[in-house]
Amino acid sequence: MEKFSGSSVFGGVAIGKLFIFQKNENKIERRHIEDVEQETARFEEAREKAIGQLKELYDKVFEDVGEANAMIFEVHQMMLEDMDYLDSIHYMMKEQQINAEFAVAQTSDNFARMFEAMDDAYMQGRAADVRDISERLIQILSGASNRMESFGEPVVVAAEDLAPSETVQFEKDKLLAIVTREGSANSHTAILARTMDIPAVIQADIRLDPAYNGKLVIVDGFTGDIYLDPDEGTRKLMEAKQAQCMEEKELLEAFKGKEDVTLDGKQIKLYANIANPGDVANVLRNDAKGIGLFRSEFLYLESNDFPTEEAQFQAYRTVAENMAGKKVIIRTLDIGADKTVDYFKLAKEDNPAMGYRAIRICLKQPEIFKTQLRALYRASNYGEIAIMFPMVTSVEEVRQIKQIVDEVKKELESLSIPFKDVELGVMIETPAAVMVSDDLAKEVDFFSIGTNDLTQYTLAVDRQNAKLNDFYQPHHKGILRMIQMVVDNAHAAGIWAGICGELGADLSLTETFLKMGVDELSVSPSMALRLRKAIRETDTAS
Ligand code: PEP
Ligand code: MG
Repeated sequence: MEKFSGSSVFGGVAIGKLFIFQKNENKIERRHIEDVEQETARFEEAREKAIGQLKELYDKVFEDVGEANAMIFEVHQMMLEDMDYLDSIHYMMKEQQINAEFAVAQTSDNFARMFEAMDDAYMQGRAADVRDISERLIQILSGASNRMESFGEPVVVAAEDLAPSETVQFEKDKLLAIVTREGSANSHTAILARTMDIPAVIQADIRLDPAYNGKLVIVDGFTGDIYLDPDEGTRKLMEAKQAQCMEEKELLEAFKGKEDVTLDGKQIKLYANIANPGDVANVLRNDAKGIGLFRSEFLYLESNDFPTEEAQFQAYRTVAENMAGKKVIIRTLDIGADKTVDYFKLAKEDNPAMGYRAIRICLKQPEIFKTQLRALYRASNYGEIAIMFPMVTSVEEVRQIKQIVDEVKKELESLSIPFKDVELGVMIETPAAVMVSDDLAKEVDFFSIGTNDLTQYTLAVDRQNAKLNDFYQPHHKGILRMIQMVVDNAHAAGIWAGICGELGADLSLTETFLKMGVDELSVSPSMALRLRKAIRETDTAS
């Protein structure tokens, strides 16, 4: 047995096989091939396997989130049949007598560059697809697999670090726990782990030795300990801890169906945060009374190109319908900082957290914003949708947003497309927004305080920087005073104010928040029942 340790960002005990995730930075070697026929057969076998994987992915995504989102895997299958692409690979293998991996990599580069140079935005977007199918082929050819489906059973993923765009690619039902050598407690990858309700350990001293792949591992998300090849005693101990954890969860079941009301009768909106439509099942299972934050940018992160209006509409509609009349607050895309995707072509910035991100992108590139708004308004007809905007700093920005919203509504009206007049809110996650929250409150229907960013910007502590974990103090008096100020300004203007940052789930502050007058708490689904228990045990009048 080998023991490693790190810091826990979410509790629970996971037992399963280890999967070492390696980024695709491996240089592909050029090798001379004697037997071209054999190499061609090896390539064809890999291609068949890739098509098979894509078929499976198509079926799975179709079932989970619908045809619009699954389409891309059908496109990828077609690309693996494309004669130009295949001819290029075969030609290189034959004429240059080179290995299939190198021929695929070269062809991929050539084709991707060709697409990127085209004027048409759609064709430019195909570059990422060529790279994606080629990477799949190379992984199969080289026997290395970055794709979890090759494991066929749920695994514990260990990695150097994971970007949100990498984490979302893992199949959720195949993920038992996340262990990273780097990572910060406040990153979106940590938030995703909480949403998925799986143990997560960061800053772990585990070696990413490929020889560990497939070995049995136990992750104790409470202590941050990781046991590789556990001995009998440790295994028994951990199985008991896992069982105890399950029991506690079962005890919380008693709170399902109960009201979110304090001892002195104050009703609280207990909502949940999600990253994509697949998380709704978790929200319903944990009986949250609505969705307080749908991080819509994950639809963009899961895509190889801008998600179309139709694909977005289907996703929002699915969530609205599945929530059956309960409130669904969808945040417009918060791309940028740690959440980047190639096709946005965002330039490298020195201070990305303070850079071109979120609502700033939407105001500067209104065509992207309008596509999302159209999809949101179309979906509004299928449930109780509300829209909120991230990273707002001023009343002027809100007025610009509202003007764009009006344009979109007029467009839909002129096309006789039905929609509802939904509530609009802003996230309060910059100190500037706090300071002008009295004015902002007159412009919108609600506030949702994003304590993750508010802490980062108020304390000048980069939430992504693991070295600063000790300095990242959301309990700071400065933050708590800001929350009080926002709530007071909201109430003075007759609107409600909630918290959708991670602090909302901090049970040591529940009483404080409720006494401050916070109306809504939106937390990861797995925290909902624990929070309900805390709300019901709180007396705000005492
Ligand atoms: C926040 O900043 O608190 C928030 C909820 O948004 P995100 O964590 O996605 O930045
Ligand atoms: Mg934020």
